[in-house]
Amino acid sequence: MDLTTLQRLPLWIGGKPVASTTSRYGEVTNPATGEVIRHVPFATLAEVDAAVQSAAAALPSWRSAPALRRARVLMRFRELLDADKKSLRALITQEHGKTLADAEGEITRGLEVVEFATGVPHLVKGEYSENVGTGVDAYAIRQAVGVCAGITPFNFPAMVPMWMFPVAIACGNTFVLKPSERDPSTALRLAELLKEAGLPDGVLNVVHGDKEAVDALLEHPDVKAVSFVGSTPIARHVYETGTRHGKRVQALGGAKNHAIVMPDADLPFAVEAIVGAGYGSAGERCMAVSAVVAVGDVADALVKGLAERARRVTTGDGTTDVEMGPVVTCAARDRIRGLIDRGCAEGATLVVDGRGISVPGREQGFFVGPTLFDHVQPGHAIYREEIFGPVLSVVRVDSLEAAIGLVNRNPYANGVALFTRSGYAARRFQEDVEVGMVGINVPIPVPMAFYSFGGWRASLFGDLHVHGMDGVRFYTRGKAVTARWPDDGSAAPGFHMPLMG
Ligand code: NAD
Repeated sequence: MDLTTLQRLPLWIGGKPVASTTSRYGEVTNPATGEVIRHVPFATLAEVDAAVQSAAAALPSWRSAPALRRARVLMRFRELLDADKKSLRALITQEHGKTLADAEGEITRGLEVVEFATGVPHLVKGEYSENVGTGVDAYAIRQAVGVCAGITPFNFPAMVPMWMFPVAIACGNTFVLKPSERDPSTALRLAELLKEAGLPDGVLNVVHGDKEAVDALLEHPDVKAVSFVGSTPIARHVYETGTRHGKRVQALGGAKNHAIVMPDADLPFAVEAIVGAGYGSAGERCMAVSAVVAVGDVADALVKGLAERARRVTTGDGTTDVEMGPVVTCAARDRIRGLIDRGCAEGATLVVDGRGISVPGREQGFFVGPTLFDHVQPGHAIYREEIFGPVLSVVRVDSLEAAIGLVNRNPYANGVALFTRSGYAARRFQEDVEVGMVGINVPIPVPMAFYSFGGWRASLFGDLHVHGMDGVRFYTRGKAVTARWPDDGSAAPGFHMPLMG
């Protein structure tokens, strides 16, 4: 499939591209030029059902294949993915807008989850106890859950799907992926590469769509587990609907990530780190720094440093040599500009204004320049709402306690970072802060593939985080077996509670 020339994207069901019969399509735009580059079908209910049926049909043989055989398919997939990085990153940049280097970075982070998942024979090893009673052994095994579904956001079209399906299929499940309708092509390319790697048809399927397809998956009786990543209102809906329909659900939501800067921090280092974490990928990372908490007398120098660096950020078409690309859609740009307007109206001090940016030759692109506010109050909309754009808001506080209190009162709790030279302050912060992912002099503390990713409070609904061992637990069910093999067949029936020993 040459995805770059296709006008209408197919679905991917049963190991091959399938043209949708829908009458509902979405537009996929190139955010750097504003052009509609292709259309994405919104799958019909029958097509969603066909994808689930395809996954259900592939389940018995895939689930019973030796884990090593499943792992070897992923090993080949890893090699193909690595070799295909350049064309895959071009597809991501074309539909998402992020720079090519950033797109390649997300492919690498996804590839690391594939590498983790290739260890599945070890990861699903059980436990065994000999002689828990006389002649009785007990053991615990983990088995695949069944047909799983993944629903993913626009901001990481390669990495977030790869947080899910490599672990799911390594564990013996089959999968239906519903990628974001705003940058849907990457998912199809990943499916193609998996087929090339030897994945049996039907083990991974891709359906495109919006709420209708998502709800069809959430309500489908043959779907046993759902992973979701996206905004908090939709995550809550997915969690409530999925669990109401008896499914295991992990639903990761939005974020408002704080970076706390202590007076003893290495200021030039903190400034570079925060500018990269706030404006990288145009602020459209779920772990992007959004609120900068300046503690004590560091504030003036910090704001001065951030402003100087923000003004030097190069913004443009992600295919060129720039630090920051456009935001994903025209609607996203207008919403971000509207929030900047509100910040001004509500009394925050606008230090760097990204609203008027124009990129020569790309006048129709969806650009917002780096924006910096100072003297932001917790009641301001720019502090309360997830902006998901290149806007940093500096909040000034007096102490580390006040900074931690501010972070802990925020409804979101995805990531947080502290910049300091004090081990004492870092240790107190690590202990007291109520957030799922914590960085100490690390601005974007995204856990490696062999740890698990997830926030607290409104940033995650469900008990288990994604990938790492939590991912293995999410995609498997535990079973405890107690076994006796008497050789004379003389075991008497017992009417009391069974006791061992
Ligand atoms: P989104 O919530 O709009 O969409 C996510 C998915 O939900 C998409 O596949 C979309 O088609 C589907 N969807 C949209 N509306 C729906 C509805 N009404 N009912 C059912 N499904 C629906 O999110 P987005 O704009 O694509 O992505 C950005 C958001 O994702 C941000 O809030 C960001 O913080 C969050 N995010 C969180 C993490 C994390 O790990 N916590 C990671 C990446 C992105």
